Amino acid sequence: MKYAILSDIHSNLEAFQAVLEDLSKENVDQIFSLGDIVGYGADPNPCLEILQGLAIIGVAGNHDWAAVGLTETSYFNPVAKTAIEWTAGKISQSHKEFLKALPLTQNKHTMTLVHATPNRPEEWDYIFSLQEASLSFQHYDHQICFIGHSHRPITFVEDAEAKTSILMNTSFTLSDSHRYIINVGSVGQPRDGDPRAAYGIYNIDDGRFTLKRISYPIERTQEKIMEAGLPPFLASRLASGS
Ligand code: ZN
Repeated sequence: MKYAILSDIHSNLEAFQAVLEDLSKENVDQIFSLGDIVGYGADPNPCLEILQGLAIIGVAGNHDWAAVGLTETSYFNPVAKTAIEWTAGKISQSHKEFLKALPLTQNKHTMTLVHATPNRPEEWDYIFSLQEASLSFQHYDHQICFIGHSHRPITFVEDAEAKTSILMNTSFTLSDSHRYIINVGSVGQPRDGDPRAAYGIYNIDDGRFTLKRISYPIERTQEKIMEAGLPPFLASRLASGS
């Protein structure tokens, strides 16, 4: 079985379409969505429309839940808040129902899926440090936990002695004696300095994980953000991937 893991599409239709085009050559059996389908970008409805047609296994992100009033936005920065209010006014009723029904975590075979952290998914914390990763490893049972949220790809590894380390490789074979927290980065708003869309491919049969980077027409996405009257920073940051 081969899986594609997509996170943080953030209403970026051009990035999402470029990833789907690349995916059409990968012959995956199932697509996982780790949340934040909406927020920031100008195309929430088209992205939701496509995603629902893919029969994904999905979990909610903080922007998804914020757009339908299921989580508060008091901690959102002003730009994120403006965008989420704009998004809430745009998305259709059926798409709202879809977002409301997304759970915080899902489990499939050897994998746990969550947007932020397995220990307190509803708090939308980040896993940046080894300490934060160590704590998270204690709060799920499966071998792998796929996450998004930070928009920065990184892998944390826990060995048989429960020692945690960071793996920066973008392609590697998982060891049966180790556990992994894999952040697949962001399709629609990368923040690791690489503006290309990011998504993961995991082949459970040979244990191979690969993080892919896909170019897309960023200028078109930027134009749409400006035309929608969304904060200009949401357009400019896409060019630098930051
Ligand atoms: Zn996000």
